[in-house]
Amino acid sequence: MGKDTKKAHSKGGSIYTLAQSGTKISDTSPSFYEKLVYGMGTDGNNTKALEGRAKCKLITQKTMLQLIDVAKEKGAKDRIKSYWNAYYCQCNITSSNGRIYGKYCKTRFCTLCLRIRKATIINVYLPIIEQWENPYFVTLTVEAVKENQLKKWVDGFGIVFRKITGKYKKRAQRGKGKN
Ligand SMILES: [Zn+2]
Repeated sequence: MGKDTKKAHSKGGSIYTLAQSGTKISDTSPSFYEKLVYGMGTDGNNTKALEGRAKCKLITQKTMLQLIDVAKEKGAKDRIKSYWNAYYCQCNITSSNGRIYGKYCKTRFCTLCLRIRKATIINVYLPIIEQWENPYFVTLTVEAVKENQLKKWVDGFGIVFRKITGKYKKRAQRGKGKN
């Protein structure tokens, strides 16, 4: 293993070094190219999963191009950068031993990364929710507001939501009511 490989492994352990090619350049060169990849990869033979990813990519890329135009109009440079990150998420992929590896953008705008985030959150919350006697799902909505009022409304939701959760947290700590 090369120097870079050792360094990568010491950081976490979720990085793998793959043999990209069996081509030997010269007698003094390594016997193969090395490339670092992250995560466990995706099964390259799982057509259904790959089709799902392709759909996500298509939706994300179409949306990002439109959002980039809006961000340009508003001069929001940071947003433009984030949108491009989402646009190029998983664009460069590496395959090895039937698995596909690529870098995830992890932005809030990427449908592919949001799908993964949702699954991660479900795995965390589901064991707790399953212990509840009668769980139910509530969605709170209001009518659409004008752009200049949006921040005020979003901030207001945050305040109200914290009040509600704070109230029930206190009740639970006192041993009254449900948590
Ligand atoms: Zn992404």
